[in-house]
Amino acid sequence: ASASEEKDLVIIGGGVAGYVAAIKAGQEGMKVACIEKRGTLGGTCLNVGCIPSKSLLNNSHLYHQILHDTKNRGIEVGDVKLNLANFMKAKETAVTGLTKGVEFLLKKNGVEYIKGAGSFVNENDVKVALNDGGETTVRGKNILIATGSEATPFPGLEIDEKRVITSTGAIALEKIPETMVVIGGGIIGLEMASVWSRLGSKVTVVEFLGQIGGPGMDTEIAKSTQKLLKKQGLDFKLNTKVISGDKSGDKVKLEVDAAKGGKPETSTQIDADVVLVAIGRRPYTAGLGLENIGMELDERGRVIIDSEYRTKIPHIRCVGDATFGPMLAHKAEEEAVAVVEYIKKGFGHVNYGCIPSVMYTYPEVAWVGQSEQDLKNQKIPYRVGTFPFSANSRAKTNMDTEGFVKMLADPETDRLLGVHIIGPNAGEMIAEGTLALEYGASTEDIARTCHAHPTLAEAFKEAAMATNAKAIHF
Ligand code: FAD
Ligand code: NAD
Repeated sequence: ASASEEKDLVIIGGGVAGYVAAIKAGQEGMKVACIEKRGTLGGTCLNVGCIPSKSLLNNSHLYHQILHDTKNRGIEVGDVKLNLANFMKAKETAVTGLTKGVEFLLKKNGVEYIKGAGSFVNENDVKVALNDGGETTVRGKNILIATGSEATPFPGLEIDEKRVITSTGAIALEKIPETMVVIGGGIIGLEMASVWSRLGSKVTVVEFLGQIGGPGMDTEIAKSTQKLLKKQGLDFKLNTKVISGDKSGDKVKLEVDAAKGGKPETSTQIDADVVLVAIGRRPYTAGLGLENIGMELDERGRVIIDSEYRTKIPHIRCVGDATFGPMLAHKAEEEAVAVVEYIKKGFGHVNYGCIPSVMYTYPEVAWVGQSEQDLKNQKIPYRVGTFPFSANSRAKTNMDTEGFVKMLADPETDRLLGVHIIGPNAGEMIAEGTLALEYGASTEDIARTCHAHPTLAEAFKEAAMATNAKAIHF
């Protein structure tokens, strides 16, 4: 296909939202072009987000475990050394393998992959400044904005990705900093704090709110998480706001004060070798030429869409981080499939009440559905059942007993309302909760489903038992 031919769908952005939509549209027999300026496909997630961070989390956990958790298992190890360059290489191997894999999938599905930066000329034509030089224009019957997001900067503290970093710098440090301050105790903050703390940095997390974990984490789970992370050596300053920063000296200096509702700080200055800014992400639409088509953004820079992902120009749609909803790769993926279905067939579906969240710390934290505070705020009655991993036989054999499963259910109908897990493999276990919630299961349905023994998943079943009757092993 030539770039001058009119496409059924032109996609701007080759991240999870863009490349999944491209594959799906290719499968549906549509003529598709996908424009990506990064030079590789997969967007934030594959290049500088989900994938590299999970490589670092997995391998730093392994290193930390070898250092601190082998003797009691009867394993004696000799000299253990970290080779940071090779540790980073392992991450790069995972990233390259996956981004190349996506490129193959686009080819396989007949998608034209255009390497360059796309911008609207008018409502149907997208101009591409090609990475290799020159320019081309693609015309689309439909256009999908899938340009994703970028880190929200901290005012007055210039990012250099060496000493004042975003997550992109945090997955690529060349040296282990002695001290690190993380501004923002959300998911990025806690995952990256875990990595560098395990490798030897002294890490302090400064969080504006009275609770870590970012939006959506159940308060009881957040408290347990904080306790466990503290035991691992992380320091927390909650209800604390950073007022200003200065990186002119050897150390980066931050002035902090009590946020509204917090206790006044005794010390108002903290310094660190490296400061990670992790206060959220914002939609990225710069350079897209939205002004040429009169496209509106909301007050947070999100592309405004309707329930079928249409902007006010109906054949231009938007999915993923650039628009509403949680900034998660699997949410972007669901939307990407649904938006193609809307274009091709006129109907699609994403259940926004049933999108799981996982924080890949140790232990992992995962949840789906409503939290206890959500239910309280809405005055929805609920019943709680919990089951601790300390009473689960597999967790015992694995010497991995911290955490618990918590289920929330409707007291009348017993319908599952939310699942919250902190514990080993929580990120995998939440799939069961997600399926149950999607199918409208009751906790009795779960409790009466046979689970293999000995598995961690038995804790899931027993939490369901505890919600509608009594757990057997606790
Ligand atoms: P993006 O992945 O940001 O992709 C957008 C792409 O569009 C980019 O590649 C960009 O270069 C390109 N682009 C932008 N403008 C143009 C243009 N004008 N022309 C051409 N190309 C353009 N989510 C999870 O679910 N699980 C995780 O474990 C997880 N971990 C994360 C860890 C980190 C450190 C970060 C930062 C994020 C993480 N996320 C995670 C979030 C996840 O990465 C995003 O939700 C996801 O990438 C959103 O996909 P997207 O396609 O909407 O946007
Ligand atoms: P976040 O919104 O999850 O957390 C930001 C935290 O920073 C919040 O707790 C907020 O209260 C705090 N904060 C904001 N301003 C502050 C300030 N001035 N001082 C101190 N604290 C401040 O954002 P994030 O952690 O940056 O992550 C961005 C996005 O990426 C999220 O949507 C997240 O879901 C996604 N992500 C997901 C994963 C995952 O699924 N495992 C991993 C990484 C990132």
